Amino acid sequence: MKNTDIQIIAQVKKLLAETSRNISIIPHENPDGDAIGSAIGFAEVLTGFGHHVNIISPTEYPDFLKWFSSERKILVYSKEKRIAEEILRQSDILICVDFNEAKRAGKLEKSILKYANPKILIDHHPYPSDFCDYTISETGYSSTAELIFDVVKAIGLGGFITKKSAEALYTGILTDTGSFSHGTSNPNTFQVVSELMKFGIAVEKIQSGVYHNFSADRMKLLGYCLNNKMVVYPELRTALISISKQELLDFNFKTGDTEGFVNFPLSIANIVFSTIFIEKDGIIKASFRSKGNFHVNHFARDHFNGGGHRNAAGGEIKLTLDETIDKFAQLLPAYKHQLLETEI
Ligand code: 5GP
Ligand code: MN
Repeated sequence: MKNTDIQIIAQVKKLLAETSRNISIIPHENPDGDAIGSAIGFAEVLTGFGHHVNIISPTEYPDFLKWFSSERKILVYSKEKRIAEEILRQSDILICVDFNEAKRAGKLEKSILKYANPKILIDHHPYPSDFCDYTISETGYSSTAELIFDVVKAIGLGGFITKKSAEALYTGILTDTGSFSHGTSNPNTFQVVSELMKFGIAVEKIQSGVYHNFSADRMKLLGYCLNNKMVVYPELRTALISISKQELLDFNFKTGDTEGFVNFPLSIANIVFSTIFIEKDGIIKASFRSKGNFHVNHFARDHFNGGGHRNAAGGEIKLTLDETIDKFAQLLPAYKHQLLETEI
């Protein structure tokens, strides 16, 4: 952990040293494998040590993250607002995982900001904002899950890692690295994976749980998007997919169905920038992926109120789908030079 002062670790250790505290863990809205895996992994460790832990997800999370051996219930704030608020109110400590600005918690933003007890942040995205009392922000990590493993050891709770927590943390690393295909330049990632494997986790079962757990409708939606909705700009090394609300309805959309779609165009030779726009209620949700040195987090921050990592970022904008596509097409030429220079 390069960025984290050892004093912060010592303070977090002290904060968690007395057992039987009520702890709430919050991942970001529309949580992905890293957010859920980090939350479950840390919750299992803290529970094993003797704390009472609840996970509150701001919004629903996909079925492909509902197979964990941990029987832990994840409260979904958008569905169980009152219970979630009560649990948050009664908790002594709040831990935010896999996001670094309060607005990424969606409707829980205000509750997080006004939360009066100690707040801990554990995250690996660049440009953290200062809304927690103890910030562990490490951009050199592949995933928050990998970071949680190191934090757990650093605060002396390594002995409470079990197969259930190892499985959840492995899932976070697996999904945030696209099955170890990006963000894995640091040997620590594989060292942590090797440690996690010692708990006897079934990596093939996890692979199937995450990647072979979709509905036929989702596969058809993917086929439809690639066949009918993908626009390639070869001279700009860019591809764009857009999906309207009606199209989602036509394919019986469920949370998580479009996860990963944005990665497919990057497998076209010479494409370095891939974008997907998805129409949601009143907003367009954007996801960006890139190869090499093309910073999609800067693109997301500058034009789509978003952020993320260099090669994987997202954002949102209050325009219609057609207006968003027009805006994107108008923005692209200014990036032509950078896109052509990008080495892969
Ligand atoms: P995804 O495209 O899978 O939703 O997200 C990719 C990356 O971008 C993740 O690291 C995620 O945290 C970040 N990201 C996605 N949406 C937003 C957003 O609206 N705001 C910010 N700041 N980051 C986002
Ligand atoms: Mn992550």
